[in-house]
Amino acid sequence: MATQPTPAKRKRSTGETTKPAPERIAEPQNAPAPVSADAMLSAKAAAAAEPPKDRDPAKLAAAFRTKLDAVLAKLAAEKTPFKFDEGFRTVERQQWLYGSGRPAVKPYGRSGPIVTHKDGVKELSNHQGNGKAGSGRAADCYPAKANGKIIWPPPPGNDPRWKRFADVAREQGLDAGYYWTDLKDLPHIELK
Ligand SMILES: [Zn+2]
Repeated sequence: MATQPTPAKRKRSTGETTKPAPERIAEPQNAPAPVSADAMLSAKAAAAAEPPKDRDPAKLAAAFRTKLDAVLAKLAAEKTPFKFDEGFRTVERQQWLYGSGRPAVKPYGRSGPIVTHKDGVKELSNHQGNGKAGSGRAADCYPAKANGKIIWPPPPGNDPRWKRFADVAREQGLDAGYYWTDLKDLPHIELK
């Protein structure tokens, strides 16, 4: 085969000669990064590094897990399935959640909405239980499709499924974030 012209490549290289990409002419390779930029980068990295959700039911207290299972089974039988999306929390994850909306707190302070009142150290979330895996006393659950996948984005707070979830949880003696007046928490149920 004869060599064929590659118009796309040629076009690009023409562009490069007339208008170099800024990142290519930025800095000599061995120049040390300025301290302020370095600090900014690590702050950004901390904000981005969300500790993962834990979906292992075995890390919940047995008494709570039994009730959670009963709630989910009943909702599934009613054809309004909910899926367990988060249970036990590490100190680190609770601190990360606490940092949202509190830019001054360490180590994860950043802008955003306030999502919890518990700092994870002085005050533990019920998701943390007593701090040890196997003691979690709270779960966040979301409306799911028939195939078990969470509906995303979740339905709004006035969707009747949220109230049903809360009421079925209450039947099991659980507390439901749906009914909290301060920082209403639709997906959250817990063993008091
Ligand atoms: Zn929760």
